[in-house]
Amino acid sequence: MMDPNDESIVYWRKKSFYLNITNRCTNNCVFCVRNYKTAVFGFNLKLTREPTEQEIINELRKYLTNAFEEVVFTGYGEPLERLDAVCNISREIKRLFPEIIVRLDTNGLGQLINPDIDVIMELKLAGINQVSISLNASNAEQYNKICRSKFGKQSFEAIQDFAKAAKYIFKTNYTIVAIPQIDIQACQNIAKEQEIFLKIRQYSGPDLVIE
Ligand code: SF4
Repeated sequence: MMDPNDESIVYWRKKSFYLNITNRCTNNCVFCVRNYKTAVFGFNLKLTREPTEQEIINELRKYLTNAFEEVVFTGYGEPLERLDAVCNISREIKRLFPEIIVRLDTNGLGQLINPDIDVIMELKLAGINQVSISLNASNAEQYNKICRSKFGKQSFEAIQDFAKAAKYIFKTNYTIVAIPQIDIQACQNIAKEQEIFLKIRQYSGPDLVIE
């Protein structure tokens, strides 16, 4: 078992194996777990330095086994801040464990982060199987207040464009965090209309004040 004081590039729980490859993110969501916790499942996810691809692959080789059902790019940042790393590491996972499911948890802004690249095609070629996209609001104004994206108003539409394209390639779902400021029913309506499953995540952080 890892020392919980060490920074964790990889961590796990039950049958899921998680990758924490960056702490960078385009957003500053009011509910972000980074705002109130340094550890998840007992693993310290605050990185003082971004790991290299080789360091991540070394950790994978050390701890990933066939006992896990899925590998998930997630952690304390937006994985598509490092699209190249996601793709190269996914290829390595598929080389080592061809049957394992590789999932990407994303804020859905990967195409804005990487405007010159066909992000969905790259992810497909790298063997990604599933994509979980944070919708987090039912309209652009609410999204900007809650998620405070550096891309501003265009973000909410970009997320939906990403999801609508992803659903033809990957098993795709939306997520929202159930905070009182979000209109859950309206989010469900959007997801239903787009025929994308919506997963509702519970919030366990401190009370939120949204300006
Ligand atoms: S998109 Fe995810 S990692 Fe980024 S601020 Fe929001 S919750 Fe945190």
